[in-house]
Amino acid sequence: MRRNEPTPECLSESRIDPAASAHEQPVGRRRFLAAGAGALAAGVALNPLTANPCTAADSELPWIDAHSHIWSQDTDRFPLAGAQTKKDLDPPSFTDDELMAVARPEGVGRVVLIQHSIYHLFDNSYLVDAVRRHPNRFRVVGMVDDHRDDAADKMRKLLPQGVTGFRITPFIREKDPGTWLDTPGMKAMWKAAVETRQAMCCLINASDLPRVDAMCAANPETPVVIDHFARIGVDGQMRDADIKNLARLARHKHTTVKISAYYALGQKKPPHTELFPMIRQLLDAFGPQRLMWASDSPYQIQGENNYRASINLIRDGIPSLSTSDREWLLRKTAERVFFYK
Ligand SMILES: [Zn+2]
Repeated sequence: MRRNEPTPECLSESRIDPAASAHEQPVGRRRFLAAGAGALAAGVALNPLTANPCTAADSELPWIDAHSHIWSQDTDRFPLAGAQTKKDLDPPSFTDDELMAVARPEGVGRVVLIQHSIYHLFDNSYLVDAVRRHPNRFRVVGMVDDHRDDAADKMRKLLPQGVTGFRITPFIREKDPGTWLDTPGMKAMWKAAVETRQAMCCLINASDLPRVDAMCAANPETPVVIDHFARIGVDGQMRDADIKNLARLARHKHTTVKISAYYALGQKKPPHTELFPMIRQLLDAFGPQRLMWASDSPYQIQGENNYRASINLIRDGIPSLSTSDREWLLRKTAERVFFYK
């Protein structure tokens, strides 16, 4: 498989085969002592009494990472899907504490945790447990089985547990990628979301954009999030036609885009500046109030990629962004979409 290609998460989420889900490289360990200076140099507003982001309270860390995964070695308590064992976890452990050890030095105090279907399929319990332990720090984008009639009921029941969005994708189970939005359960979910405000978070390719566009048109009040630029650039090419299709979604007022997963797009290595023109086009279409930065850890922190290079692109890398633009991209949009409850 594509073990040496830095596109593990989104490609591997297209299959449940555990052998295909492993990733070659270990997570790089962060440099705690050096890292704190980055956020400060970037003008992050920290309380001077707790100026070290490694020790600051969550509330003093300004930024939200709108997309990361976590998993635990405690597979007795949080069983793995199928016949997988601990040996299939790669990296072997990436708990919420390990995630925050990477995120906090960069000024990130809150994270939206995304269900990782390879390891846990539709069992959201580890992510829900993280919210229970840290109710202000985390929200969850879960997964429910839209092939079941009770999908929308399950959605509603998960809302009080901090699940404010659901990952939907043609990459799991669908034999025909043209029908993944057509199941009764899927349609019920989009309707329930009008009332619950839980976002339909689409892990898709650019080729899926027209179908999502039609679904947004049919459900104009449903909150929708497009993950990882609809993976435009995953083959190294940022095609104008694809970017235009993504930008067309801006006419649906409740649709937002995650500008994320830089390790998987364009040149797939820092400084990721080749993504600027695409980000600029999306800023023109959606405005900063409907775009949100996310790292997609632990995949962003493997090999030559790292967490700092991801946040740096938005926090420090685009000179034309205003302070207000950055606040939307790095906090306010994700806060509105996911931390509303
Ligand atoms: Zn992801």
